[in-house]
Amino acid sequence: MTKRFLHITTLFVLMISVVLTGCGTEPAANDSGKLQVTATTGMIADLAQRVGGEHVEVSALMGPGIDPHLYKASQGDIQKLQQADIVLYNGLHLEGKMQEVFEQIGKQKPVVAVTDQFAESSLIASGVGGGTHDPHVWFDVKLWSGALDRIEAELIKNDAAHQADFEKNADAYREELAELDQYAREQLAQIPREGRVLVTAHDAFGYFGKAYDLEVVGLQGLSTDSEYGLKDVQNLVNLLVERKIKAVFVESSVPKKAIESVVKGAKAKGHDVKIGGELFSDAMGSAGTPEGTYPGMVRHNVDTIVKALK
Ligand SMILES: [Zn+2]
Repeated sequence: MTKRFLHITTLFVLMISVVLTGCGTEPAANDSGKLQVTATTGMIADLAQRVGGEHVEVSALMGPGIDPHLYKASQGDIQKLQQADIVLYNGLHLEGKMQEVFEQIGKQKPVVAVTDQFAESSLIASGVGGGTHDPHVWFDVKLWSGALDRIEAELIKNDAAHQADFEKNADAYREELAELDQYAREQLAQIPREGRVLVTAHDAFGYFGKAYDLEVVGLQGLSTDSEYGLKDVQNLVNLLVERKIKAVFVESSVPKKAIESVVKGAKAKGHDVKIGGELFSDAMGSAGTPEGTYPGMVRHNVDTIVKALK
């Protein structure tokens, strides 16, 4: 960390403290009487909205195409976090640049990492941004339903009057996720053994590969914060040529340049690799589209991968 960065961070934290103290300890005002939930990623907001239903108002800080690894809270975000009754984030250092903000806001209200009760044994060891585990847990649908449980418990704790509704909603969504998990399993099973390699720009699909039996290779490390070099490109090109891999994938929240250079490299060696399509990795699609929901995002990825590798 550079001295300049440290300095800016310190200033920023001071700024937040001043604003927070200015607001006092009164609960955030909201006219609707509904529980105000602010989530970092769309995937978390999706869970909170489905469980909370009509009793919550949910907003997500990070919209379509936004990279959570590099994301820094804006002044507007700080305001949303202050107005929230509950703040939900992924944890496992996914939101690597927001740790200090969470700590500050956490002095005033529940700030919950939805993965904080995941069993250590369910996590993939390998750190990012100072963490010790892969943060991309939402791509194992069964595992992600643990985040649903966590959010259900937190909503009940903060709004006990609507416990029955929260439980009913959570049960229904749990069932839908179980079906989605089954769908992913059945679809991906169609890819022949030798073709079960998923090549993407960054290592977002570790849990996906583990859950659905695909080998996963990323050009970049677990965080988009890490640089890739010529050597990484060359290694990946060699792998594509040797294993005769048919397609690689770009990601909605990562620049496409990196993976395109790999395709070019393979072509130069006489191996034609297709770009199999765009996968949603660290952010969902636009609101109002099928990919703007968690199940829609997973289905899109599964269908895109199966179509390109079958
Ligand atoms: Zn990522």
